[in-house]
Amino acid sequence: MENQELRKAGLKVTLPRIKILQILENADHRHMSAEDVYKALMDADEDVGLATVYRVLTQFENAGLVVRHNFDGGHSVFELAQGNHHDHMVCVESGRIVEFCDEDIEKLQKQIAEKHGYDLVDHSLVLYVKPKTQK
Ligand SMILES: [Zn+2]
Repeated sequence: MENQELRKAGLKVTLPRIKILQILENADHRHMSAEDVYKALMDADEDVGLATVYRVLTQFENAGLVVRHNFDGGHSVFELAQGNHHDHMVCVESGRIVEFCDEDIEKLQKQIAEKHGYDLVDHSLVLYVKPKTQK
């Protein structure tokens, strides 16, 4: 399955590419840093260096297989470029990343762009949050 996806993206099938794609597909968390991927490879006893992980993730990004996010105060995280549009919430305490999509916000952003004489092409919205204080 991974082989097909790599070929479809115009990438030659290599073992590191297959392994890294598998990690991204089977991960509990949809958003992983290069270090997370590297650790997962080590846990699986795969001999792939961190430099290779960086290189392959960048190749995946260029091929449109993954999307890179540069959230404030952290490393780049990568997620598979599949599924519907969503925005992100980053917990500044735990680093946890939550995905959300809100119809009202989507609509509002379009309206704001139009008000300024533009058609909205794309957007990326990140909310930085911390756990709600218990009262
Ligand atoms: Zn996401």
